[in-house]
Amino acid sequence: MGQPLLLLDICDRLESFAPVCLAEDWDNVGLLLGDPQQEIQRVMTCLTISPDIVDEAIKSQAQLVVTHHPLPFRAMKKITTQTIAGEMILRLIQSGIAVYSPHTAFDSAREGINQQLAEGLKLTRIAPLIQRSESSAEIGIGSGRFGEITEGPMELARVVETVKQFLGINSLHIVGDGLKSIHRIAVACGAAGEFMSTALEKGCDCLLLGETNFHTCLEARSNGLALILTGHYASERFAVEKLAHWLSQQYSEVTCWASREESDPVRWIS
Ligand SMILES: [Zn+2]
Repeated sequence: MGQPLLLLDICDRLESFAPVCLAEDWDNVGLLLGDPQQEIQRVMTCLTISPDIVDEAIKSQAQLVVTHHPLPFRAMKKITTQTIAGEMILRLIQSGIAVYSPHTAFDSAREGINQQLAEGLKLTRIAPLIQRSESSAEIGIGSGRFGEITEGPMELARVVETVKQFLGINSLHIVGDGLKSIHRIAVACGAAGEFMSTALEKGCDCLLLGETNFHTCLEARSNGLALILTGHYASERFAVEKLAHWLSQQYSEVTCWASREESDPVRWIS
């Protein structure tokens, strides 16, 4: 028998994959709940902790939940069953389940979500939309990504097909004409309308993002920037599935899986 694997060890490994220093200032990342000395054998990843996910974590005897979106996210002065967040936290604590969230550090990491999206679109010359620093050690790290279509210009409708295939989705929203020729694409997972101006500065003609508001869509159209809106869930959920796989590869003695019960609260119907 080797040394028992401690929560602390897994946190260190996650930290080296998605350094918490990459997280945005407003974010709340890292180990959010738990005892670093706890032994860990079962880890579940998910996009967001909801009451259903707490049920699943307890039922499947997870000892650690790695959730993309933090819980708690905002500062809390009371932890009681009178709020949904309070009740979830109490149930997790009572069940001895720790919580770690990489969130925006995972978005921006060298092999993080936005890099994975850019590679999924088969872009070339991929670089961050906002480079973290000019130091050579940090080249390739930063917020969002952009790159060029490897095969050369492509109609927006064909780019959409690549996106659907990569994310395994049937529906999404677009802004712009399906025949529009796309050369350079920016990607930013989640709610990411704030990246529109940077995408334009970088000469992109298309921005793929999870979601944004109506007025940003109008502004994009006025600026001749195509948008591909995959839905927040689809733009990030695939990455927590890959994260579970990555964790399994790191630790043969640990059972890791992505939540099987999680689903998009936004339902796409036609
Ligand atoms: Zn998100």
